[in-house]
Amino acid sequence: MTATILDGKALAGRIETELCGEAETFAGVFSRRPRLVVVLVGDMAASASYVKSKAAAAGRVGIDSEVVAMPATASTAELVALVQAIARNEHGPADGILVQLPLPSHVDTVAVLDAVPPDRDVDGFHPENAGLLSQGRPRFIPCTAAGVQRMLIDAAIPTAGKHVVIVGRSDIVGKPLALLLASRPPLGCPPDDTGGCDATVTICHSRSGDIGALTRQADIVVAAVGRPKLITAMMVKPGAAVIDVGINRVDGGLVGDVDYGPVSEVAGWISPVPGGVGPMTVAMLLANTLLAAELRLGKR
Ligand code: NDP
Repeated sequence: MTATILDGKALAGRIETELCGEAETFAGVFSRRPRLVVVLVGDMAASASYVKSKAAAAGRVGIDSEVVAMPATASTAELVALVQAIARNEHGPADGILVQLPLPSHVDTVAVLDAVPPDRDVDGFHPENAGLLSQGRPRFIPCTAAGVQRMLIDAAIPTAGKHVVIVGRSDIVGKPLALLLASRPPLGCPPDDTGGCDATVTICHSRSGDIGALTRQADIVVAAVGRPKLITAMMVKPGAAVIDVGINRVDGGLVGDVDYGPVSEVAGWISPVPGGVGPMTVAMLLANTLLAAELRLGKR
């Protein structure tokens, strides 16, 4: 079997086109464009490059953005104060506020993220938004989890009653994705086998023991760990969907967590790295920013 490639870049492009219309409508009604403010701390090349691509994508759909850069030596108190100032619109209208992770190791990341007001938390990391998601009434869904769900829905990959094994239990990817895929359909929506929900979900982590024994039972495997080639062909059931969230820098290039070539001979669907989940994460950030702008102005 040769897997169907889940082209996240193409899907993100289609989503951007839809969002252009929404941004235009917003600007027409409120006489200004939605606006995203990003806090970038330190000089990590990867973080700078992610921020650049988020700002470029925002511009493409008609969202203004500003990057507020801070030195790597900034303290927790300085960063909390900065986020609070941004929330008071001291850096211009801030419909969405995003703190690019990771922060330097001396900084209390939770304290900085908690300073982002929950109604502008476009990354969906605030405990209020995490709580809403866990109760099945999401507002801002963490972008990578939302992107993976959207990818499954777009490819009409069945999730209802299917077994999903997610490797990785972080608050930003594994955990919210598990909640999303195991959730009931949104209120008022009829049951839908390919609705990105109603799945039976297993979460694995570094203490899980024989992960292969679990992934081999899975209809959908999601790898969100940060270890190249962690998921091998032997670990995948023929015909399963394999979603690779991992981003690893190897020999100057980017690879995921999945041993792509051999796994694509076994899987039914596979997402590449780059060009898979990464662009979807950015597209979902833009969607969350538009939602934040509309919520702030009382439209939704
Ligand atoms: P974290 O480091 O926060 O979490 C990694 C998870 O993997 C943890 O739950 C950890 O277990 C688990 N883990 C580590 N080693 C193993 C192992 N050998 N077997 C099984 N599980 C293991 O990472 P993130 O969730 O933030 O990111 C995961 C990957 O996804 C990274 O490569 C990151 O760069 C990428 N990423 C990609 C995005 C995209 O847009 N494509 C967006 C965000 C992240 P434990 O909890 O026990 O430590």
